[in-house]
Amino acid sequence: MPEHAVGVVGLGGLGSAAAYWLARDGVDVVGFEQFELGHVRGASHDHSRIIRRSYHTPGYVALTEEAYTAWEHVERDADTELVTRTGGIDLFPPAAAIDPEPQWTSSILAVVLFLWTPPHFWSLAAAKADDYAAAGVPMLPVVAPEREWTLAILIYTATLAALSLTPLWFGMGWIYGLFAAAGGGWFLWKSWLLYRAPSRKAAMSSFLASLIQLTLLVTGIFLTAWLG
Ligand SMILES: Cc1cc2nc3c(=O)[nH]c(=O)nc-3n(C[C@H](O)[C@H](O)[C@H](O)COP(=O)(O)OP(=O)(O)OC[C@H]3O[C@@H](n4cnc5c(N)ncnc54)[C@H](O)[C@@H]3O)c2cc1C
Repeated sequence: MPEHAVGVVGLGGLGSAAAYWLARDGVDVVGFEQFELGHVRGASHDHSRIIRRSYHTPGYVALTEEAYTAWEHVERDADTELVTRTGGIDLFPPAAAIDPEPQWTSSILAVVLFLWTPPHFWSLAAAKADDYAAAGVPMLPVVAPEREWTLAILIYTATLAALSLTPLWFGMGWIYGLFAAAGGGWFLWKSWLLYRAPSRKAAMSSFLASLIQLTLLVTGIFLTAWLG
């Protein structure tokens, strides 16, 4: 039986890469694969993958530094174009790629967005309750008493409006504060009116206010980032 310095078990993307780079460096390596090469039962098997540069820890991001150069080597050896550069936008909090420290503003804004979703969709479901009921979609305003879902919208809105101001403590500045307060205040006012006097019209106003609130919040964030 032939002897080899290194054996790689499993020739998916990672095993193949390990075997390839070892062989390239002159190491005597043998690969073992339980299925035929290029089979469709592994995580690597499909027609494409993206090279993402944004990850949850800086260590991962550092690992991607060499990815394009490494693929260029493989392309040259195989005399085949394997990578297509399309460009792209990774939507991740800045902390994902850069700073291992807790990023309070990004985390708070993620919670704000999380809290924003229910009152946004409940307001729409209340405004279009007949359609939702006819379609059998059990949204809260379709299945719960009026007092219950209007209160739920109010509580969520009050919480997210208050929470959206807390990034001020973490240095977001007055421009962000202005936009967050205006948007949060408007949404809260409309959901209060809905709570006081529920109607389809008031629900639609609350829904539109949720869109305005989010637009203002995002505008405040962009302006803050843009103006430094
Ligand atoms: C749908 C999907 C989309 C993805 N998209 C991306 C993306 O866009 N970008 C990105 O960076 N990552 C992406 N990933 C993740 C990435 O594809 C995987 O992390 C990577 O392919 C894993 O490679 P692997 O070699 O570890 O595993 P696998 O490809 O699963 O390879 C393991 C191999 O080991 C073999 N094996 C197992 N046991 C034995 C044994 N006892 N003896 C012999 N052989 C054995 C298996 O047959 C298999 O061939 C995606 C994953 C999936 C599933």
